[in-house]
Amino acid sequence: MKRALITGVAGQDGSYLSEFLLAQGYEVWGIVRRNSVPEHQISRIGSLGDLRLEYGDLLDSASLERCMRLAAPDEIYNLASQSHVRISFDIPQFTVQANATGLLNLLEVYRRVAPEARFYQASSSEMFGNTVDPDGFQRETTPMNPVSPYGCSKVFGYHAVRNYRKSYDLFAVNGILFNHESPRRGSNFVTNKVVKTAVQIRHKLADKLVLGNLDSHRDWGHSKDYVRGMHMIVNHEVPGDYVIATGHTHSIRELCEHVFSRLGMDYRDYVVQDAKFMRPSELTYLRGDSSLFRSTFGWEPEYTFEALLDEMIEHWESVLGRRDGS
Ligand code: GDP
Repeated sequence: MKRALITGVAGQDGSYLSEFLLAQGYEVWGIVRRNSVPEHQISRIGSLGDLRLEYGDLLDSASLERCMRLAAPDEIYNLASQSHVRISFDIPQFTVQANATGLLNLLEVYRRVAPEARFYQASSSEMFGNTVDPDGFQRETTPMNPVSPYGCSKVFGYHAVRNYRKSYDLFAVNGILFNHESPRRGSNFVTNKVVKTAVQIRHKLADKLVLGNLDSHRDWGHSKDYVRGMHMIVNHEVPGDYVIATGHTHSIRELCEHVFSRLGMDYRDYVVQDAKFMRPSELTYLRGDSSLFRSTFGWEPEYTFEALLDEMIEHWESVLGRRDGS
């Protein structure tokens, strides 16, 4: 039985990856941070099976070492981070500590305690910032030019993983994932915020949706499709870094248009803008070219943009629709 250790196991990707690995027969160890609110996404997964949860923190190397020794992993997935871009402007130092220093702490424990394991780093399309290749895509070779503390911290992580791979001959890899969503996405990310609030409006539980920039574009996929990709990269014969993306892009306005019209409404009647949701600098356009990843692994996403949003709408309908009895 293979053994995996996942940081950030309580988040969206951690919970889907745990389910995926448990279904493959893995013994899965997850690191959770102590939090005043004990509820998290991991409680949503159907069967806990062989999932073992341990308290730990990327900023507490002793806890990482304890978890690494307990889990004795074949595969390590570093999914923990302060992952909200706008909030990274409010708490830049914590963001860098968790995403950059925290990763370095984990790499050091990995190198000393479990160097035979394979290591996956959750790198991000935010690393590209506002660089787009002349054909309108970002890919592995696109220069990185981050525009947020979050993006800067992820660029450090990306290079640290490559540096450790080369310096210490470790199987350490990056997945450069474009935005990926699901009903388990935090509801302060734009997809889930739009869907949740639109469903609330439909059931008269809210009367408007307050957003920031409506003109930025994102390449949105489904987290479930992307965690399969993480596992593929980790299980390849040779270590490498790959972009995972759908190759399609939509503006926030188009997202609103689609979600509200699925619910029989016109978004223009409900969406208002507030500067508090704008960012000091914005990444305006993301569209990923994942041909290297697709041709190497034969991966194709199962979810379209529409199917992703339909699943999220269904989720919020089942949670909120019940409340007004409709
Ligand atoms: P990100 O791409 O990782 O920053 O993911 P988000 O879902 O947080 O944001 C995606 C895009 O939606 C960004 O361009 C935001 O500026 C834009 N956006 C517009 N209004 C909002 C809002 O109210 N909340 C969030 N989170 N993003 C918003």
